[in-house]
Amino acid sequence: MEYQIAADSLKDRVILVTGAGEGIGRQAAISYAAHGATVILLGRTVAKLEAVYDEIEALGYAQPAIIPLDLQGATKQNYDDMAETIEGQFGRLDGVLHNASLLGVMSPFDQLGEDTFDDVMQVNVKAQFLMTQSLMPLVKKAEDGRIVFTSSTVGHQGRAFWGAYSISKFATEGMMQILADEMSNTNVRVNAINPGATRTAMRAKAYPAEDSSELKTPADIMPLYLYLMGPESKNVNGQCIDAQPKRKPGAA
Ligand code: NDP
Repeated sequence: MEYQIAADSLKDRVILVTGAGEGIGRQAAISYAAHGATVILLGRTVAKLEAVYDEIEALGYAQPAIIPLDLQGATKQNYDDMAETIEGQFGRLDGVLHNASLLGVMSPFDQLGEDTFDDVMQVNVKAQFLMTQSLMPLVKKAEDGRIVFTSSTVGHQGRAFWGAYSISKFATEGMMQILADEMSNTNVRVNAINPGATRTAMRAKAYPAEDSSELKTPADIMPLYLYLMGPESKNVNGQCIDAQPKRKPGAA
């Protein structure tokens, strides 16, 4: 599908992107900034966030902000403090892209370690749940509030050896649907994106033998990221949309 997105569709909006230091999150932050947004870059590796910050500034887009936070250890208090900081600094929050995730270890179900399960569920599910709870009061005040989660093909179709990651993405889609239903009579729209195979470090970890040059890049899949974050998607709610609908799931 072709998404029609105005060049200034995100003008004056404030958008938080988690996992903004590399991969899809980095590109989404740059693309949102290119369409007029002030982006808040959240991630755990400050040097990577600073590099994205510098890139956005060098391109002449609105000055971004950085929130260093490891979702593994973050508490509800951290998220409440974060909401307060954002409100104090920007006075608004128009959108959140929940992008950061852990792949964990791919293994047969009966060998999946409890620690791996806990780590993946913490970063991919609980952190997103707590952060969303803290940020919702701000997002609800926005003219076109947007919450965008990130799922996966294994978030709606289980596949052997995808263990905790797949379970976490099923939970993400459930969380998205529940919140979308609760927000249906408001200005907030809640959806998810399934990026499909995309050339990033996570993909290389999952498919180490693959020729990554065959894969779409994060930049290739940005139209959907822009569409679901902007005013154009006001009639879309509770959907998980595939960024590469024609691609067959699995190895390239
Ligand atoms: P990457 O592994 O390339 O990037 C993930 C980002 O998340 C990194 O910036 C990483 O930070 C950050 N992150 C991971 N753990 C934490 C944490 N504990 N606290 C804060 N930040 C953290 O992943 P992709 O860009 O490939 O994936 C982005 C999203 O897309 C994920 O939700 C993934 O599940 C989903 N997806 C990706 C696909 C693909 O083919 N690439 C396919 C389907 C879904 P740091 O840089 O510090 O490690």
